[in-house]
Amino acid sequence: MLTDTICSIATALSPSGIGIIRVSGDNSISIVNKIFKSVHKGLKLNQVKTHTIHYGHIIMPNTEEIIDEVMVSVMKGPHSFTREDVVEINCHGGIMVLENVLKLVLTMGARLSEPGEFTKRAFMNGRIDLSQAEAVIDIINSKTQLSLKSSVNQLNGQLSNKMDMIKNQLIHLIAHIEASIDYPEYDIEALNQDKVKLDIEKIIKDIYELMRTYDSGKLIREGISTAIIGKPNVGKSSLLNAMLKEERAIVTDIPGTTRDVLEEYMNIHGIPLKLVDTAGIRVTDDQIEKIGVQRSKSKLEEADLIIFVLDASRALDEEDLHIIELIKDREVICLFNKMDLDEKIDRKSIEGVLDHGYMIDISAKNVEGIDALEHAIKDMFYLGEIDVNNDLYITNVRHKNALEKALISLNEVLESINNKMPEDCWSIDLKNAYENIGIITGDTVNEDMIKEIFSRFCLGK
Ligand code: GDP
Ligand code: ZN
Repeated sequence: MLTDTICSIATALSPSGIGIIRVSGDNSISIVNKIFKSVHKGLKLNQVKTHTIHYGHIIMPNTEEIIDEVMVSVMKGPHSFTREDVVEINCHGGIMVLENVLKLVLTMGARLSEPGEFTKRAFMNGRIDLSQAEAVIDIINSKTQLSLKSSVNQLNGQLSNKMDMIKNQLIHLIAHIEASIDYPEYDIEALNQDKVKLDIEKIIKDIYELMRTYDSGKLIREGISTAIIGKPNVGKSSLLNAMLKEERAIVTDIPGTTRDVLEEYMNIHGIPLKLVDTAGIRVTDDQIEKIGVQRSKSKLEEADLIIFVLDASRALDEEDLHIIELIKDREVICLFNKMDLDEKIDRKSIEGVLDHGYMIDISAKNVEGIDALEHAIKDMFYLGEIDVNNDLYITNVRHKNALEKALISLNEVLESINNKMPEDCWSIDLKNAYENIGIITGDTVNEDMIKEIFSRFCLGK
């Protein structure tokens, strides 16, 4: 079957030193050959070996006018990303040059690719399964080191292997059951109900354990959502800066300056954290500040962890107490900030209310006590132990839903067995379970689903 040839700019569109145009499909080599002139006289791309790189120029085919100086790599199918013939043109011009080269490739008969189309071809041509294709998106979008690692594992097939294992066990069971229905005369060691039940229970346990990783998978993917809260001017933005070790949030001594919500991603001892700096929470008449206060309150509700900042150089006031009231039942780390100044705060009255959680002295301004804070975060989540290299995490809600459905079907099989239902009832539910596992790897998905998944890709991938 002949495939059309697609092309796209594969690198970021912002100005950069080099840009790559990727071409894939049956005519990719002959197309680029028409506009490439090697420094070696007479070298033709359609005669070169696969996986070689060639130096020369992209030229207008009629006038031989030079468009850019390039390196062209040729990767013949099936040993390429898409399993088709792939040519990559490494240009070193800016965006205008890249566009000119792209236009030329289009004129020669290639078509502009859709988002994700290269990866989709890799999937369609069987080089990767669907969970691996999704890992490609996740790698591009990774916000934390851990999530990157976990996506790379997924791309390498860890999830696929596990799913294949489960599928094989299911097939084995289905085959056994169907055989005993279809060929009763063989009297295939009369289906041992207890054995079937045991096998299914084992699969259920495997799937259940995998599903349980979804919550930590979510943490890996998005980070622990951590809200920094406190009344205006206690030092929340200074704390965020101290933690990020850079000036990010605007620090001023006018109360109420952090009007909007700032989000930053960081790693603490390997724990991904999504830090949210909120506008101070207080009663205000300023309309714009009111919106900020409202957003802070909703961020507070969504947060997995709350870092509550107090100004230790002042006495507690109504505003502090109002916030304490809001957070007293949550996971809280309470910070006494501005410890470089004289202490005025009454600690006892807080310890009574926020009895669980941590109390730590810091000076955001002098970056003191940040280590203690980081250790407290680590202690609270024990996530420092997570070793993504060895474990498999479900990070994708599509996968989680499919596993959930498979579990339901498997539990129905158990019920059928217990209720002495006929054996063909068992195999219907077993097949359902099989199909749902297949949805994860992509062998039982439909066209719409594939479209939806690949539409989330960026161009050129
Ligand atoms: P926010 O409104 O809670 O975000 O507070 P900011 O981070 O904007 O800080 C308010 C003021 O307190 C600024 O003038 C900071 O320089 C000052 N500040 C913050 N942290 C400390 C600290 O640890 N020690 C002292 N002396 N001043 C601080
Ligand atoms: Zn602030």
